[in-house]
Amino acid sequence: MDLQYASMHHDDIDNSVILCRACDLAVRRRALPSGVRALCPRCHTALYDTPFCSINGMLALCVSALALFLPANLFPVLELHFLGSVRTATVIQGAMAVMDLGYWVVGIAVLVAAVIGPGLLLLSILSQVLLVKMGLNPGWQRDLYKWLLRRHGLFSQLTMLEIYVISFLVSAFQLSDFSDIYFGVGTFSFTMLFLVTLFLQREYNIEHMWSRLND
Ligand SMILES: [Zn+2]
Repeated sequence: MDLQYASMHHDDIDNSVILCRACDLAVRRRALPSGVRALCPRCHTALYDTPFCSINGMLALCVSALALFLPANLFPVLELHFLGSVRTATVIQGAMAVMDLGYWVVGIAVLVAAVIGPGLLLLSILSQVLLVKMGLNPGWQRDLYKWLLRRHGLFSQLTMLEIYVISFLVSAFQLSDFSDIYFGVGTFSFTMLFLVTLFLQREYNIEHMWSRLND
């Protein structure tokens, strides 16, 4: 174990050491061939997978997510039929309604986490994928790529679609006792946007994206 630690200080090229979750053995991270999983040499617990991040896969997910983005935000996510009157609300209208009531911070938080954050995240990943496809030539391409990678953490923290998917499911259950709830194109698009973004974030690997600068 000490030897493993020692190698951490002498090897500047690959200095990432991870601890086994099960037995605390320090293991130096190595590059893996694709589809291979690293196991702990002592207790055989799975340590990490290949940082698999397929550029074409991400491009496909990005384009699907952006195609869902407009209907998710323009069509109502909730439609209430209550005593003969029909009320519909889009995410943006919901945020505006909350702001009209005086809850500015809540309204802005909703807009940022459900509309602006996901939009920025998707555009950022799309631009990164396109820059990689263009070859990351020295100059503005590399500069823009680095700028986007540095902001990736911020964009993904701002994205909180799951909260809205859960909250409109909860409100639908609560409201269903005294009014009829209908889910429409907006609900479908919003839920699908959430799922596609989830898969995109799973596929995206920031370390792998940084390593493309060295290729
Ligand atoms: Zn172990």
